[in-house]
Amino acid sequence: MKRTLAIKTSSRTEFVDITADIEEAIRSEGVDDGVCMLFVPHTTAAITINESADPSVKSDILMILNKIVPRKEAYGHIEGNSPAHIKSSIIGPSQIIAVEGGRLKLGTWQGVFFCEFDGPRSRKVHIRIL
Ligand code: ZN
Repeated sequence: MKRTLAIKTSSRTEFVDITADIEEAIRSEGVDDGVCMLFVPHTTAAITINESADPSVKSDILMILNKIVPRKEAYGHIEGNSPAHIKSSIIGPSQIIAVEGGRLKLGTWQGVFFCEFDGPRSRKVHIRIL
């Protein structure tokens, strides 16, 4: 099964919880067991898995990423969004998650987050279930 999730972000940097959208795609395709591959086809965005219960976790991750990658630096990239490219490479463009019983086999506190680093924009996440 293959699908593409459309995401509209609303801030320059933002984590969007897409766990429910992915599980909905798995459910509607009737997939019971398999492997879910998620891929972000953007150079200034990423995808990660982390705690979804406490929203402070995602804001803490963003705060530290913003400290590690300064907004102003002697960047050569003329588009002016080098920090977003660097954060995208630190977090990475893909995730692989087992699907069991029609659901993502995530830990109790885990959620899947689309990471926006150069928003607001219209974005995509490609979903493949094998
Ligand atoms: Zn750029």
